[in-house]
Amino acid sequence: MNVIGQVTVLPQLPEAIGRLSELAYNLYWSWTPHAQALYRDLDAEIWERFQHNPVRVLLEVSQDRLEQAAADPDYLGRYTQVMADFDAYMGKKDTWASKNAAALGPVAYFSMEYGFHESLPIYSGGLGVLAGDHCKSASDLGLPFTAVGMLFHQGYFRQLFNKDGWQEEAYDELDLTTLPIKPALTAGGEEARVSVQIGHRDVHVRVWDLRVGRIRVLLLDANVPENEGEDRKLTARLYGGNQELRVQQYVLLGVAGIRALRALNVPAQVYHMNEGHAALLGLERVRELVETGLDFRTATETVASSTLFTTHTPVPAGNDAFGYDLMDRYLGRWPSLLHTSREELYALARHDQFWDGHWVPTFSMTVFALSMSRAANGVSELHGEVSRDMWKFLYEGAEAREVPIGHVTNGAHNLTFTSQPMRDLLGTVLPDDWTERLEDEEMWKAVEALSDAQLADVQLDMKREMIAFVRRRLREQLTRNGASAADVAGTDGVLSENALTIGFARRFATYKRATLLFRDKARLSRIVNDPERPVQFVFAGKAHPADNPGKAFIQEIYRVSQEPEFRGKIVILENYDMNVARHLVQGVDIWLNNPRRPLEASGTSGMKASFNGSPNFSILDGWWREGYDGTNGWPIGEEREYADLNTQDDADAFSMYQTLETQIVPLYYAPPQPDAEGRSGWRQVVRRAIQTVSPRFSMQRQVIDYVNQYYLPLTERGAALARNGSQRAREIAGWKSWVRQQWPHTSLQASAHLPATARPGERVEVQATVNPAGIKPEELRVEAVLKRGDHFTRVPLTPQGNGHYSAQVPLEDSGLYSVGVRMLPEIEGLSNDLEAGLIKWA
Ligand SMILES: *Cc1c(COP(=O)(O)O)cnc(C)c1O
Repeated sequence: MNVIGQVTVLPQLPEAIGRLSELAYNLYWSWTPHAQALYRDLDAEIWERFQHNPVRVLLEVSQDRLEQAAADPDYLGRYTQVMADFDAYMGKKDTWASKNAAALGPVAYFSMEYGFHESLPIYSGGLGVLAGDHCKSASDLGLPFTAVGMLFHQGYFRQLFNKDGWQEEAYDELDLTTLPIKPALTAGGEEARVSVQIGHRDVHVRVWDLRVGRIRVLLLDANVPENEGEDRKLTARLYGGNQELRVQQYVLLGVAGIRALRALNVPAQVYHMNEGHAALLGLERVRELVETGLDFRTATETVASSTLFTTHTPVPAGNDAFGYDLMDRYLGRWPSLLHTSREELYALARHDQFWDGHWVPTFSMTVFALSMSRAANGVSELHGEVSRDMWKFLYEGAEAREVPIGHVTNGAHNLTFTSQPMRDLLGTVLPDDWTERLEDEEMWKAVEALSDAQLADVQLDMKREMIAFVRRRLREQLTRNGASAADVAGTDGVLSENALTIGFARRFATYKRATLLFRDKARLSRIVNDPERPVQFVFAGKAHPADNPGKAFIQEIYRVSQEPEFRGKIVILENYDMNVARHLVQGVDIWLNNPRRPLEASGTSGMKASFNGSPNFSILDGWWREGYDGTNGWPIGEEREYADLNTQDDADAFSMYQTLETQIVPLYYAPPQPDAEGRSGWRQVVRRAIQTVSPRFSMQRQVIDYVNQYYLPLTERGAALARNGSQRAREIAGWKSWVRQQWPHTSLQASAHLPATARPGERVEVQATVNPAGIKPEELRVEAVLKRGDHFTRVPLTPQGNGHYSAQVPLEDSGLYSVGVRMLPEIEGLSNDLEAGLIKWA
C-alpha cells in the first residue's frame, strides 16, 4: 500500500481502573506481585514480551480488553485492594524514620547503576541491584532521600549464546516513552535541563524522574538533539567504551548530577557516593561554595564533612585510575574554577602506580573519593578489613586497623525477591505489619512454626515455576540458533522437580570461579548421576563484553551442559537479569557461591535465595562469613586465604564435593525423621535460613545501619562545619595547613625502661621528648603504642613541661610486647585521628 501517513491510537483507561497509569509510573509495583498481576492479567503475552513492563502494557493492550477488565468484578476487587495498599504505603505518616531519625537531613545518593526491575535495564549486576534495593528500603523506611544516576539508553547489554555457547552482546535502543519515567519538571513547570562542560564542549543533559515508592531517582540523559553525535552517546552504554568515555561519564554523573538536584530544588545535606564513579560530585559542590566566596580548602572541608564514600571493590584493578594527561583533558578548567592549583587538586587523588615499566602518578577515583569524604565504608566485615589494608598506604605511619574505613554489611530488598507464595506462607505466622519491620530478628523466630509440609508445598510450587521458566528459555535459545526439532522438543525433559537443584548465577568475573565445580568432572558426574539421589545445576550470568576469560567460562559450562552425561542436568541460561535472578533464587533448593576469598566484597544473591528457603552453600567470604551460623546452610573451604591460587582452587573444590556428598545430598534425600514437632532435618535448615538471614541481611537493616552509623552523624557534622559561613571548616582547614607546614620541623625522641621479663600487670616507664615546632601542647597527642599479637593498645603520655612527656604503661597480659611511641596533631571536631594525615614515630 502507499502509506500517506500514520497515527497511533492509544488505548484509553476506563474510569473504573483509571489509576493503573499512575501506579505504572511508580516502581512500588516492582516489589508487589499483586500489583504486577493487574497488568499481566490485561495481556499476558504483552506482559511477557516486554519484560513485565506495566507502562508498555497500557500502551499496547487493546481497548476491548481494558473495557472487559473494567467490568470484571474479580479484577475490580483486586484493583481496589492494590490501590488501597498503595495509598496506605504512600500516605504513611509514622514511618521508621519519623520515629527513629527525625534529625536526619535529606540524603542524596549517587550510583552509576541501578537495578530496580528487568524492564529498566540500567544495571550490570550486584552494585546496581544493591543501589536499587537501597532506594526501595529508603522509601519503605520513610527517609528523606533522592537518588541520582544515569539513563543508559542502550542499557548494559542483552546476552545471547551462539551455537557454540559463546556470549554475544545485543544493544537494543530503549524506547523511552515506554519506560516508567517522566521528564523532571522545575518549579516553573519546565522540563529540567542542565549543562556541563566536558572537554571543550557544553553537553546538555535532560533529567528524568523515576518514582520508587516515596522517593525519587533522577536519571541523567545526554541523548538530546542539542548535543553533537558523540556527546549523545555519553549515556548510551553502562561500562562500555574506553577510559576516555569513562572519565566523561564520571564528570556527567558527578557534576551534572549535582546540577540536576539544584535545578529541581531538591534539598540535600548528606551526600552518599558509591564507588569512585560518583566522586567528581565533590568538584561541583566545592565550586558552588567557592563561588560564594570561600577559599578552596575551606570549601573542601565543608563539602567533605557531609559526604560518605562506600567502596564496593576489594581488588586494586577494580578501582579506576587515570593518567594526569587524560584528566587534564576533562578537568583542565577546574583548578581555576576552584581557585586552586592543578597540583593541589590532583594531590587529593594521587595514587602512584607502576605502569608500563615505571612509576607514574595517577588520578585515582577512589583516592579522590576518600579525600572528598569524612566517612567511608566497605560492604562486609571482611571487606572493611581488606579495604583498610588496601588503602593504608594513604595514611603513612598508621596501622591498617586504624584506617578510617568502617563497614556496613550489605542486604537485599526482601520483598523484591521473595515469591508471592512464600510471602503468603510467611504471613500466616508473622505479625500483620511484618513487611515494615523486616530487620526484627525476634519477629522472624515465628518461622519455626511453619511445618515441613507447608514449606515443602510452597517450595515445590516455586521449583515447578522455575523449571517451566528454564525450559521456555532454552527452547527460545535453541529455536533461535536453528536447532533440530528433536533438540527443541528435548527441552521438555530438562531438569526434574524431584532432583536436588543447585543454582549458581552472578556476573562471570573470573574471581567468582564459575567453573570450579568442574575441577573433577568424574566426581561431579557421580554426584549428578546418582540414580537414587540425583543432583542438577542451573547456571546463569553475564561476562563483561571485553572479558574473554569470563566468556570462556560461560562457554565451558555450555559445553559441559551438552555432554551426554550432563545433558538436562546441568543447564546454563542466557541473559541473567533480575527476572532470571528471581526465578532462580525462588526455585532452586540450594544457592551456590564459590568466589576466590577474599574477593567477594559481600555478595547478595545468596541472601535472596535464603529469603525463599533456599539455603546458601558458599565460601566463607563477604556476607556469608558473617551469616553462616552452623545451622542455616553450609560453608565451602576454610576461613583463610592461600598464597597459591591453584592450591586454593583445589582445596575449595575438594571441600565443595565433600560437603555435597557427605552432608547436603544425604540430608536432602533422607527419609523424614520428624522430631516431636514433626520437623525433619532438611526443612529445619530451610527454616533456619529464612529466619536468620531474612532480618540480618534485609536491606532494611542495611539502610538503618547507614542512617545510624553515617547519615545521622554526617547530618550533624556537615551542619556544624557549614554554620556561619563555614566558620568551623575554615578553622580546621587553617589549622591543617599550619600543622602540615610545621610538621617537618617537629621532632620526637623516646625511651622506655623495659626489664628483660615482666609479670602481667606490671607497669613500665615510657618517656618522650618533643620539639613541637610551635604546635600547641593541647593539639599534640603523644602516645605509647603497645602491640601483643593481635592486641593493639594506645596509652597517652602526659606532658611534664619543657617538651617532656611520660607515662607508666601497664603490660596487662602475658606475651611478647612491642612498644613504640608516636605523636599526631589533633583538634576537636576532626572526623578521626588520621584526618590531618600526620603521624611521627620516635
Ligand atoms: C543480586 C543480583 C546480583 C548480585 O549477586 P551476587 O551474589 O552479589 O553476585 C547480580 N545480578 C542480579 C540480576 C541480581 O539480582
